[in-house]
Amino acid sequence: KFITLEGIDGAGKSTHLEWLRETLVQRGHGVVVTREPGGTPLGETLRGLLLNHHMHLETEALLMFASRREHLAEVIVPALQQGKWVISDRFTDASFAYQGGGRGIDEGRLRILEDWVQQGLQPDLTLLFDVPLEVARQRLSANASLDRFEQEQQDFFQRVRDAYLRRAAQFPSRIRVIDSARSLPAIRAELDTLIAGL
Ligand code: C5P
Repeated sequence: KFITLEGIDGAGKSTHLEWLRETLVQRGHGVVVTREPGGTPLGETLRGLLLNHHMHLETEALLMFASRREHLAEVIVPALQQGKWVISDRFTDASFAYQGGGRGIDEGRLRILEDWVQQGLQPDLTLLFDVPLEVARQRLSANASLDRFEQEQQDFFQRVRDAYLRRAAQFPSRIRVIDSARSLPAIRAELDTLIAGL
């Protein structure tokens, strides 16, 4: 099974990813945890370039999908073929949210790249950790990563969140919106139910 985790920075993705990994391993599954941008040696090099260099927005989108092509071919598809569960910290919905909603790339172009790179393969389940911007902001400031939030403008993150929610409305059976402002036990109970249904 292929599970992807999404959400704006500060939505709690990393905390839930670790719990999910442990839970699946305890149930006897082979689990591969990976991330985007990144996930392969080439992808990690691209991640360094993407996160540290200013570039044209279309260059950014193309590099994200180039990294994804490599990730699918080298990591995700082989692991799925071996019967493993793959958990990816971000995948294509992040491109619709960040490159599309956040930076303004036309969605039709992103859909062309999605078809080209994924050739029909979609996650079995996408967990969209959703919080109001103010909650994300408070969490990041507790983590001392507020800089990241403030550098990239509030309205940017609002557009990203809105684009994620639009995407979830388009694909309601794949993308489940998790209200991530709740307590950890409440969220874990919901995740448990969703995983059991796979
Ligand atoms: O999830 P993680 O914190 O590792 O993501 C690192 C950064 O990469 C995020 O803050 C986000 O701004 C950026 N990103 C992006 N477009 C994507 C995926 C991630 O801009 N498609």
